[in-house]
Amino acid sequence: MGKPPLEKIAVVGVGTLGAQIAMQSSNSGYQVKVFDIKEGALQKTLKTVKGIELSVPVDNWPVCQAKIQQVISLEKAIGDAELVIEAVPENLALKRKVWADIGQKANPDAILATNSSSIPVSRLEESSGSPERCLNLHFYIGMNMVDIMGGTRTLPQVMEMGIRWIRSLGCTPLTVNKELLGFCFNRVWRAVKREVLYMWANGFVDYRDVDRAWMIFNGMKKNPNRFGPFALMDRVGLDVIYDIEMVYYNDSGDPKNHPPKALKEKIVQGELGVKTGKGFYTYPDPEFMNADFLNP
Ligand code: NAD
Repeated sequence: MGKPPLEKIAVVGVGTLGAQIAMQSSNSGYQVKVFDIKEGALQKTLKTVKGIELSVPVDNWPVCQAKIQQVISLEKAIGDAELVIEAVPENLALKRKVWADIGQKANPDAILATNSSSIPVSRLEESSGSPERCLNLHFYIGMNMVDIMGGTRTLPQVMEMGIRWIRSLGCTPLTVNKELLGFCFNRVWRAVKREVLYMWANGFVDYRDVDRAWMIFNGMKKNPNRFGPFALMDRVGLDVIYDIEMVYYNDSGDPKNHPPKALKEKIVQGELGVKTGKGFYTYPDPEFMNADFLNP
């Protein structure tokens, strides 16, 4: 285990996942700098993340948060970082632009990683100018596991460093040996998501029954942090879910992979999940937390 020989981390984009990564890193003793195009993004996100206990356990929340340095330029955030993690929205053109900037402004020895849910780093590595130092490091919202996957030329020592860094955060690395869209567990989760969205959008079932069944099947009756696939999609953000499904659709061209129109309609109405107070459920007191939810 032990800590890898690096101390300085930078996170670019501190929405739901970037903020979680920054907190996890700060909690494990790293010096963390963050940059976001929206001023005050970290505070705003952490308020939501903390409120709904999204993050993996953090020993002392105020101390960890206070240690994170928010800077107003990308250059200042990443200039001396040994590991830069990009967590901007799931859009290939945007990510390529950000990666080109990162490539220019990062330390030449820094490891560059994307937290993308669906874009293999091989599609970003050229923009950075340093393909041998690039990785996918895919965190899961509120869970102690991280997918790790290299690009076309990632050096073995860069993979090794990534694995050691993940372990140092108290997370389990899920190593993907050759490029696979969706990595390791994300691909399993995606198969579930696609199926339940199809069942809901076509009126076959009530989404709450799917969540009830999931909780019973997985023995979540007594787990205070219990949720089914629809509740989890609310936590992730329905806009993020939609964008990820579109990546699979664009990649395959298979109409079965196109996210349902009903999901788009929810997004257009501003029903993005926990972050807007309404998605499939309403927040902060979603129905699935009620004692009688499993036996209404
Ligand atoms: P989000 O929309 O909550 O946050 C994105 C942040 O990036 C925002 O704060 C935005 O202001 C900022 N941003 C936009 N353009 C920027 C730029 N040019 N430079 C710096 N900051 C910029 O998104 P999210 O849910 O945190 O997702 C971010 C990435 O993480 C995506 O690639 C997504 O696929 C991935 N991811 C998300 C989840 C999830 O559960 N939400 C899980 C795993 C991975």
